[in-house]
This record gives sequence, structure tokens and C-alpha cells, in this order.
Amino acid sequence: MSRKMLIDGEVNQPNEQEAHYDFDLFVIGAGSGGVRASRISANFGAKVGICELPFHPVSSEVIGGVGGTCVIRGCVPKKILVYGASFGGEIEDARNYGWEVNEKVDFNWKKLLQKKTDEIIRLNGVYKRLLSNSGVKLFEGEGKIVGPNDVEVTQLDGTKLSYSAKHILIATGSRAQRPAIPGQELGISSDEALSLEELPKRAVVLGGGYIAVEFASIWRGMGASVDLFFRKELPLRGFDDELRAVVARNLEGRGIDLHPQTNLTELVKTEDGIKVRTDHGEELIADVVLFATGRSPNTKRLNLEAVGVELDKTGAIKVDEYSRTNVPNIWAVGDVTNRVNLTPVALMEGTCFAKTVFGGQPSKPDYRDIPCAVFCIPPLSVVGLSEEQAIEQAKGDILVFTSTFNPMKNTVSGRQEKTIMKLIVDAETDKVIGASMCGPDAAEIMQGIAIALKCGATKAQFDSTVGIHPSSAEEFVTMRSATRRIVAGTKPKTNL
Ligand code: FAD
Repeated sequence: MSRKMLIDGEVNQPNEQEAHYDFDLFVIGAGSGGVRASRISANFGAKVGICELPFHPVSSEVIGGVGGTCVIRGCVPKKILVYGASFGGEIEDARNYGWEVNEKVDFNWKKLLQKKTDEIIRLNGVYKRLLSNSGVKLFEGEGKIVGPNDVEVTQLDGTKLSYSAKHILIATGSRAQRPAIPGQELGISSDEALSLEELPKRAVVLGGGYIAVEFASIWRGMGASVDLFFRKELPLRGFDDELRAVVARNLEGRGIDLHPQTNLTELVKTEDGIKVRTDHGEELIADVVLFATGRSPNTKRLNLEAVGVELDKTGAIKVDEYSRTNVPNIWAVGDVTNRVNLTPVALMEGTCFAKTVFGGQPSKPDYRDIPCAVFCIPPLSVVGLSEEQAIEQAKGDILVFTSTFNPMKNTVSGRQEKTIMKLIVDAETDKVIGASMCGPDAAEIMQGIAIALKCGATKAQFDSTVGIHPSSAEEFVTMRSATRRIVAGTKPKTNL
């Protein structure tokens, strides 16, 4: 096989030293970033090895699985449960559409759980095949770095394998953290929440991020009573404030009890369940307490200190804009670098790494206009700047266009839940610099809007686009007059 090695566009001629490496690239961690980087590197002609921990739905320091968090205990299983939970509301809505649904509708959690597990096992197999079809050699075991060009893999039976590689890529992801409160061992993380034996009747969720509101929606949609505790006034810090308020209102509308500015102080096991105490002196009993209180990068067991790879204060690996660490032949992509912790971003970083190192096309990941979604029910999706970010970053005035309406489906179903859309426009250039939506299909709609933003579309171009009728999406091209103009340097105002 002819192999080429290109760094920053320059061909590295193989020399005698290189001939002794077992691999051109050894990757630690076969999640989104690691699998993508290794496959593309192999397609460029590199000889690639990758190691991954043994498979199980619930991770630990020594348990993982090919496919990583997204496939086994993140995006995919979560979305399956969101679909499952959404049927509850759909069945209610169906009544006014003429469906005669018996009063009592049963939900079989164990059946859905089995279907979910079958699907992640199938995907685990698909990812393994993707690797072997690309010629990537997979090792099952825990990888660590023992020298600038040396990796050791400890297999399940304890035997150790040692390999040398010209380049090492760390793609070990992150794991859920627990808060340091008495009784924390009684709580669970999102890993376990995706694999519970029984559906909880009473669930407590701690956290204000997307994972917290998604699980609150899932359990509520399946019929549990849910209490959501978070530190700020509104959940989803970092998203547009107006949209955060809408999500909070919708969560309450769906029957979730919100406890803003409240923390949990203690969990105690009782005969009736887990007693939860808060810093407001409240007490309640739950079957399940989910901690969705952040994740930390998987760097502790990699032996990075042996080669001097620098970490930041959160334990994430520091990299430059090409994903290279301070040790020139050691690279890192994905959640372990704690840049933007999303699957498509890990994929982008993995692709850029492979192009840079083996493809002769030095490529920096582009973090502008990354769209994302929160799969609460109904979902929130955004791209570009929030109103607050736009005000902070803009040099001139900003125009804010909003539309709040009753989606057509609700006019017949009777559901009281508005859809909200927002566009942020730079007044001087007319460029759309931010878009957000909370309502059914928000993620599906926002992907197309993200392309428009990436292309630098102006509001005039949005307005000249013909709508698809009747749809909610058409509102994005029919917001004629600005809701408000924000003069540079002033504060955001809402009118929802
Ligand atoms: P991972 O996919 O975590 O892969 C890292 C791999 O390295 C793991 O398989 C791990 O077992 C392995 N590993 C660790 N240490 C070692 C070692 N020493 N040796 C060998 N292998 C090792 N993102 C989205 O874009 N959309 C979503 O809807 C979404 N939902 C999510 C829901 C949940 C509940 C969670 C937890 C995450 C979600 N994410 C979502 C985030 C997304 O899953 C991650 O951003 C993504 O998986 C990161 O990919 P990665 O390659 O960096 O790490």
C-alpha cells in the first residue's frame, strides 16, 4: 500500500525511523470523533489502529463500546426515548382529530427499552464494520500513552499490547459528573437513565442544561410526575433568553414542576423511595433522581503526564486550531477537548484532523453557525447568535423579528402551546446572524436555515424566498416587520 504522510501540506518523506512505527496513526477511543478520524485517515492511505473499551450501555472508566456516547448512551438512545414519549401527547391530540382512543392507554417501558437496546447493539455492529471495511485495526481494551509515539492497550484479561505510532489521536470523550452532596450514590446519570429497569413514577432531575430538560420531557411524556431543579432563573443557560422562557413555559404546560434557583442538598434512602432535600428546605420523595450536572473529559487514566500533554483547568486536553496538542505528534478531538460538545462537531474535528495530517489539506474546524437542538417536547433549535450574544458582539444596531403563533395542528387538537420563531438581523448589512425556534419539528427546520446563515443570507433573501404552505416553516420567510430595533450597546427586551 502506498502511504503518504502530509503535515500542514508538506509531504514527510518516510525515513528509516518511520519505517519502525507499527502504525501511522493510533486512535484511543472509538466514538464519533475517533471513528471518523480513523476511517478518513485510512482512506487517505494511512495504516490505522484504534482501541475502545468493551461494550455496555452504562459506561465506567473501563466500559465503553465502539460507537461511543452518541450511539450507545447519548443522542441515539435519547432520541428513541423522545419519540417514545411524544406519542403520549400525540394520542391526546388525536382525539379531536376523530380518533376514538380508549380512556386508558398503556405504555410498556420494558418493550421500548428492549427496542432501544437492540438498536444500539445493531449500531455498535455497524460502526465495527465501518472500521474494518476501511482497513482500520480495532483493539478491545483500555488505551494509554506510554511515550510520545507509544501506546499500551490493556485487554479484558489483563494482558497488555504495545504499539508505536507516528501520530496518536486522543478521542476519549467525557463522562457524567455527580454533585458532591450526601447520598449522591442514590442518584443516577444519563447513562443509567437510558437503561432503567422500571419507568419511574416520581422523577427528580437536577440540572438546567439540555440533557436535564430532555429527560424531564421524556419521563413526563411517559406519565411520570417530574420535578426539575436548576440553579438559574431559567433552564438552558447560553440559549436566547426569550426562547428559554418559552421552553420553561412549555415544560410547565406539559406538567413538569420547575424549581428555579434551587439546588439539592441531600438524598436519603427511605422505605417509600429516595427522600430529596433542597436548599429551600423542601422535601420530596422520588423513585429516581437524575444528576444532569455536567460532564468531565476522560483524561485521568491516559497517563498524559508521562509525555507532558497539557490540560486546561477542567481536565480537557488543550489543542491548537488544528486539534494538535503541545506534543507535536499527539492530537485530540471531540468532547475530550471540551470545545463544542456535540456529535457533528466531533465528526468535523475528526475529518479536519485526517485532512490535515494525512490528506495534504490543512483544515481548521469552523465553529461559526453550528446549529443545535434541545429535544424537549416540543423541541428548541437554534443557529448563530442569540439576541444577547448579538447585542454583545454587534458593532451596530440589531433588528429582531419574532413570530408567535398557534400551529395549525393545535387549532383542531386544542393543545394550548404556541410556536415561537426569531430572526436576528444585522441592521447595517441586512445579514441574518441568528435564528431560533421552539415548536414541533424545530430541528428539522433549523438545519435548512443553518445553510442559509452559513451562506451569509440577508433578510431580503429570506423575504424573497417562497414559503411552503401550509407549514410552520414558512413563517421564517414571512416575518415582514421588525419586532424591535436594538441600538448598539443597549439591553435586550422581550415582548413575548
Ligand atoms: P465519545 O463519543 O464519548 O467517544 C469516546 C470513546 O472513547 C468512548 O466510546 C469511550 O468508551 C472511549 N474511551 C474512553 N477512554 C478510553 C480509553 N482509555 N481507551 C479506549 N477507549 C476509551 N450531541 C449531539 O450532537 N446531539 C444530541 O442530541 C446529543 N445528545 C446527547 C445526550 C446525552 C445523554 C449525552 C451524554 C450526550 C449527547 N450528545 C449529543 C453529545 C455527544 O454524544 C458527544 O458530543 C459525542 O459523543 C462526542 O464524541 P467523542 O468522539 O468526543 O466522544
